[in-house]
Amino acid sequence: MDLVAVRTQLESERARLESQRDRLDGALGDGAVADAPDGAVDLVLAQIAAALARMVDGAYGVCAACGAQIAPSRLAALPYATRCVTCADRRD
Ligand SMILES: [Zn+2]
Repeated sequence: MDLVAVRTQLESERARLESQRDRLDGALGDGAVADAPDGAVDLVLAQIAAALARMVDGAYGVCAACGAQIAPSRLAALPYATRCVTCADRRD
C-alpha cells in the first residue's frame, strides 16, 4: 500500500471538506438552518484526522475491531475506514 499517496488523498479531501464547511458556515451564518450537514462534514474531517494519526503511529489499515488488515480495495474506496469489511458489516 502506498501510504504517501493515501495521505495525499486524505489531505486533499480534508482541504476540500474544510472549504465546503467554510462555505456552509457563511451560508448558514444566522444559525437558522439545522446544522446536520455541517455536522456530517465535521464527522468526516474527524475520521480523516484519525486516519492521518494512525499513519503516524503505524496503525493505519488495521481493523480497530478485530486487528486484521483492512483490504486495500476497501481503503481505496474509503481511505479513513477503521474496520475491515467483516466488522463493518457486523456493526453497521
Ligand atoms: Zn475487523
